[in-house]
Amino acid sequence: TGAIQLEVKRPLKFLILLNPHSGKGHAHALFKGNVQRMLQDAGIQHTLIITERQNHARELVREADLSKWDALVIMSGDGLLFEVVNGLMEREDWEEAIQTPLGVLPGGSGNALAASIHHFSGLQAVSSEELLISCGFILCKGLVSQLDLTSVCLASSQRLFSFLSLAWGFVSDVDIESEKYRHVGAARFTVGTLVRLASLRVYRGKLAYLPTENPMSQPSLVDSTATFRQRLPQSNSDSCCPSNGLLGHTLQNSSNSNNTPKSKQSNPSPLSVFGPTDFLLNPLNQPVPGHWTVVQDEDFVLVVAMYQSHLAEDMLAAPASRLDDGIIHLIYVKAGISRRSLLHLFLAMEKGGHLNTNCPHVVYVKVKALRLEPYSPKGIITVDGELVDYGPVQAQIHGSLARLIAW
Ligand code: ADP
Ligand code: MG
Repeated sequence: TGAIQLEVKRPLKFLILLNPHSGKGHAHALFKGNVQRMLQDAGIQHTLIITERQNHARELVREADLSKWDALVIMSGDGLLFEVVNGLMEREDWEEAIQTPLGVLPGGSGNALAASIHHFSGLQAVSSEELLISCGFILCKGLVSQLDLTSVCLASSQRLFSFLSLAWGFVSDVDIESEKYRHVGAARFTVGTLVRLASLRVYRGKLAYLPTENPMSQPSLVDSTATFRQRLPQSNSDSCCPSNGLLGHTLQNSSNSNNTPKSKQSNPSPLSVFGPTDFLLNPLNQPVPGHWTVVQDEDFVLVVAMYQSHLAEDMLAAPASRLDDGIIHLIYVKAGISRRSLLHLFLAMEKGGHLNTNCPHVVYVKVKALRLEPYSPKGIITVDGELVDYGPVQAQIHGSLARLIAW
């Protein structure tokens, strides 16, 4: 049961959004040097827009006539895609808009989704320009798969849509503190990790989650490529947006199709302006539902919720994660871990071995929703590597809400 590869009609029209300041600041040159010709040879027409400031892309896709494009492609790090996803979800026609196929070309320093796509294609890990070329080929093939999004609710009542991660503690601190090492590219996370290890600290708070109903039916860590291309039975059945069961679509067949998921939005959450209802979540000022698991430990080194495999180009943090498995892979590290063990974990993470080290401080659970309430008044929480308002936060996964050009 491999992916269904239907014939792609040409010419395709891509809108490419490029952040000239992402990564080492060479995204435009990298695009011209590695990707432009590839697109030409594949018979893909494109319009390139260089972003002029933060949120430029977000505003642009919020207003754009999406019927003009077969895909929206982001050449930057994960931050620019975060803008685009949220811009699409801020539209009145979000249900259709978020079905626009998205594509990623790694041009930033944090290219976790690009690394995940490359990983899911079954190829050996590569980085920098080789990753860009791989993602360029994947883009030219134009096969669309479904992509989970997680709705993230902040204490300010703001709701964000996330495709990658929600992080607190060590990981989010490194993410933000390492921005100043941007000139070293993807290595900024290695530098940041070593700096943070030297001043390791404990983060206090309360963590609760809703485990996946039937953990035994979920894929294991050593899942084969063949398995992940299968639909996971019922994994998205409780989501607002049931999928049509097909992973492979052509761009032509998928854009503006009438299989747009229907929302069960009879009772919209007070938190949401647009988007599917977070039917698993109680309001943040009320306790979590009684059947949730409340973590007894309140001292953490890190908490990270992931929905893709990679946290950075060389960090295979959730090896079992798939684009549309409908699962939040929650990993937390309890306080008390030694610096040496933590370093060992991060080193093992490059190949995804950190979850097999039998370290008693590491916990990995598959969940549908979670809530985190930090006790300290100040700190850093990131969503897809971007800084968000600090404070209580909760999240729920919405399976297959978006689409992504992958493999
Ligand atoms: P990197 O991986 O290098 O951090 P990102 O894509 O994450 O690259 O972009 C970093 C930040 O820059 C994001 O917050 C994004 O919203 C913002 N941004 C996008 N376009 C611009 C621009 N033209 N000028 C400044 N910042 C931008
Ligand atoms: Mg970034």
